[in-house]
Amino acid sequence: MSIRIDRREFLKVGLLAASAHLASQHRWSFVPKPLPPTASSKRILIIGAGLAGLVAAYELTQAGHDVTILEAQLRPGGRVLTLREPFSDGLYAEAGAARIPDNHDLTLHYVKHFGLTLVPFYPDKLARVFVLRGKRIRIQPGTELDLSQVPFELTAEERRLGMSGLLQKYLGGALRAMGDPSVPDWPSGSAKAYDNISMPEFLRQQGASHGAIELLEYPYASAEDDPTSFLWTLRENWYEAQETTRYKISGGNDLLPKAFAAKLKEKIHYGSPVVRIEQDSNKVRAIAVQSGTHHTFEADRLICTVPFPALRRVEVQPPFSERKRKAIAELTYDPVTRVILQCRSRFWEKDGYNGFGISDLPQEIFHPTFDQPGTRGLLVSYLLTGVGKRVGAMDPDRRTEFVSREMEKVHPGLLNHLEGCVSKVWPADPWAGGAGAEHSPGQLTTFCVGIERAEGRVHFAGEHTSGYPYWMQGALQSGLRAAEEVNEPR
Ligand SMILES: Cc1cc2nc3c(=O)[nH]c(=O)nc-3n(C[C@H](O)[C@H](O)[C@H](O)COP(=O)(O)OP(=O)(O)OC[C@H]3O[C@@H](n4cnc5c(N)ncnc54)[C@H](O)[C@@H]3O)c2cc1C
Repeated sequence: MSIRIDRREFLKVGLLAASAHLASQHRWSFVPKPLPPTASSKRILIIGAGLAGLVAAYELTQAGHDVTILEAQLRPGGRVLTLREPFSDGLYAEAGAARIPDNHDLTLHYVKHFGLTLVPFYPDKLARVFVLRGKRIRIQPGTELDLSQVPFELTAEERRLGMSGLLQKYLGGALRAMGDPSVPDWPSGSAKAYDNISMPEFLRQQGASHGAIELLEYPYASAEDDPTSFLWTLRENWYEAQETTRYKISGGNDLLPKAFAAKLKEKIHYGSPVVRIEQDSNKVRAIAVQSGTHHTFEADRLICTVPFPALRRVEVQPPFSERKRKAIAELTYDPVTRVILQCRSRFWEKDGYNGFGISDLPQEIFHPTFDQPGTRGLLVSYLLTGVGKRVGAMDPDRRTEFVSREMEKVHPGLLNHLEGCVSKVWPADPWAGGAGAEHSPGQLTTFCVGIERAEGRVHFAGEHTSGYPYWMQGALQSGLRAAEEVNEPR
């Protein structure tokens, strides 16, 4: 058993055992089937050329509809963003979606459909490094974090249980009790109560020590500050407990949205931010600004894939229902900052490390160039929630200095090898407003119930409207669901 490094992975190891009985009952909610060809072609507008909009446009075009996508930016893909510039030697790294778990059937389906190649996300060689409270811990491949080395104040029993035992003790019961999140009426019954608290609160109720809470929150948040609904975290882990490995697309994950876009060609209007949506009983219209001029596009149906922070700036007439407006106004997004450091060499490999790790910031560290040619390397610092916001608010020079000094603690020698640094602050991106929908306590069971429901001729897609938020899989699921809705004869 190996412990990998993001929070999702961190928790997974122990939960795998706890939820093993669930795997056999599991049904993936979407087996991609082509839409039935339409007898009456509709004009369909789609706002956003991220994966949700692209898959909807692709499948609706195949079914015989007349589709137009309005995209604010000059590229497809939205939050699937592979950075190739300004790096040397053809190196690249992901600023957005990075990993594809092997149970994300829909993502895997389209990767295969477009003839793209998957490669492992994690190397199977060399050690990872965890820096916990300043202590560097080497994690050899195929081994679990040894709790005897962890400098947190754990009880004797917690230390004896080990990482897997700890997770099962404190989270296994809740995971079993929350039910199958892939069924339509989820969450029901007792699972709903988990939406009203955060994970640290739940762990405290279970009698976990402060040290255990801190450990289980790594590298996501602190024991005092996890802004996410515990139900959201449990659902993530329910799915993740059933994966066995993670991939990435060889050449960059943006090859997937680019493959869709290559098929849709001029159906996509780039540089076309929509500023207003209006509808009546016959038609729906989107008003987009193109080269400084307002243009009106009219259609029978509209699919809006705009992330809710960006949708807050779009005027809607007549206004959506009160519940939808509340969801648009309040849904929480993770304020991630990604910082990518280019190093003159992959010096960490000489010390037996593969570059991946976590550290006290807290941050998660990826090394996406372990399988790319050349001797230079890129290290990616993945800063989530509170720290993502804090580091994102720094001016770029200060941010580089801060993150590189932290990275020096993880990979000593970094400052001598650093050539340059690029960052992506997702909450500052006007077309996203955050990395992904990560519901705060109380949101999943209140105004987010039915978040995907159409409002008249306006249908909704995007990862935030799916049962798989903050994943490409969720974006694709939601795009197909919305495409099915508009394909139905009315
Ligand atoms: C830091 C980070 C890490 C992630 N990690 C992973 C991962 O490891 N694996 C994984 O599978 N997923 C991951 N994701 C999530 C994944 O990237 C998203 O869930 C998915 O790409 C969202 O697709 P979407 O179509 O719903 O939204 P988007 O990709 O955001 O697409 C929406 C589109 O709408 C456009 N738009 C916005 N406003 C307007 C407007 N007014 N008019 C016209 N166009 C507009 C935007 O420009 C954008 O192109 C990550 C995301 C981030 C940011």
